[in-house]
Amino acid sequence: MILIDGKKTAGEIREELKKEIFQIKKENKKVPGLSVILIGDLAPSQIYVRMKEKAAIEVGLKSQIIKYPNDVEEKTVLDKINELNKNDNVSGILVQLPLPNHINKQKVIESISPLKDVDGFHPFNVGNLSSGNESIVPCTPLGCYLLIKKYEKNLSGKKAVIIGRSNLNGKPMTQLLLKENCTVTITHSKTKDLKRECLSADILVAAVGIPKLVKGDWIKKDSVVIDVGINKTDQGIVGDVDFEEVSKTAKAVTPVPGGVGPMTIACLLKNTIKCFKIVNF
Ligand code: NAP
Repeated sequence: MILIDGKKTAGEIREELKKEIFQIKKENKKVPGLSVILIGDLAPSQIYVRMKEKAAIEVGLKSQIIKYPNDVEEKTVLDKINELNKNDNVSGILVQLPLPNHINKQKVIESISPLKDVDGFHPFNVGNLSSGNESIVPCTPLGCYLLIKKYEKNLSGKKAVIIGRSNLNGKPMTQLLLKENCTVTITHSKTKDLKRECLSADILVAAVGIPKLVKGDWIKKDSVVIDVGINKTDQGIVGDVDFEEVSKTAKAVTPVPGGVGPMTIACLLKNTIKCFKIVNF
C-alpha cells in the first residue's frame, strides 16, 4: 500500500510557490497579499487562521489578519470586504468560516470580488467550475485532486465515489473528477447502500465528518482512497476512513493527519498567487 503523503507533497508545492513569489517580486516589484477576516474567538478557527498566516509568510506572501469580535455588525464586515476588494495590495480575501449566526454567510461570500475569492466559494467561481471553465477551485478539493493525480495519472473512465455533498468539499470534488472523465457518484446521508457504492469505486473520496465511517470491507482492491475528514475523538484526530483496515485493500490511502490537511493550506497559497496573476498579468 502507498501512503499518500500530503505533508510531503504540500511541502513541495510550497517550495515551488516560494520560488514563484521570489520571481514575481523581482519582476513586478509587487508582493501578492492575502487578507484573512476572523470573526469571534472559536478556538479551531483561530488555529486555522494562524496556520494560514504562518504558511503565507513562509512562502513570501504578504499576510494580514483582520479580527472582529463575535458581535460585530454584518455591515462592518461587508464594508471591510468592499475596502479590500478595491485595495491593489490585496490579491486574495478569505473570511474564516463558520460565521456567527447573525451574519449572512452567503451575503459575505458574494461580497468578495470573484477575482480575489481564494476560497473559490463565490457563485461566479462555482458556476465556472461546474461549466468546466477556468475558475478558482476551493482549496480542500483542489488539494485532494492534486494528490489523486499524483498517484493515478490517467483518470479517464475510472469510477469515482464521493461521500458528502457539501459546497466546500463534495460538490467541487465531483466537478474536478468529472472534468477528468471519471464516472462520478456523489453520495450523502440519504444514500441507500453506501457500502455497495463504495465497493464500486476506483477512486473514493470521503468528506463526511464521521470518524472511521469507511470500513475495510467497503473498499475495492487497488483503489485510491482520499480521507478529507478531521474528527476529534478520545483517540485523537481521526479521519472518515478506518485507515488500519482500508490500507489492507486499497492501493493508496491518505493518512489523517498528514494527508489532505496540509494540501488545503498549500492550495490556499496557490490560489492567492493565481488571483494575483489574474489581476496583474
Ligand atoms: P458537511 O458540510 O457537514 O457535509 C457532510 C456531508 O456528509 C453531507 O453531504 C452529509 O449528507 C454527508 N453525510 C453525513 N452523514 C453521512 C452518512 N452517514 N453517510 C453518507 N454521507 C453522510 O462537512 P464538510 O464541511 O464537507 O466536511 C467534511 C469533513 O471534512 C469534516 O470532518 C471536516 O472537518 C473535514 N474537513 C477537512 C478539511 C481538510 O483540510 N482536511 C477541510 C474541510 C473540511 P447530507 O448532505 O445529506 O447532510
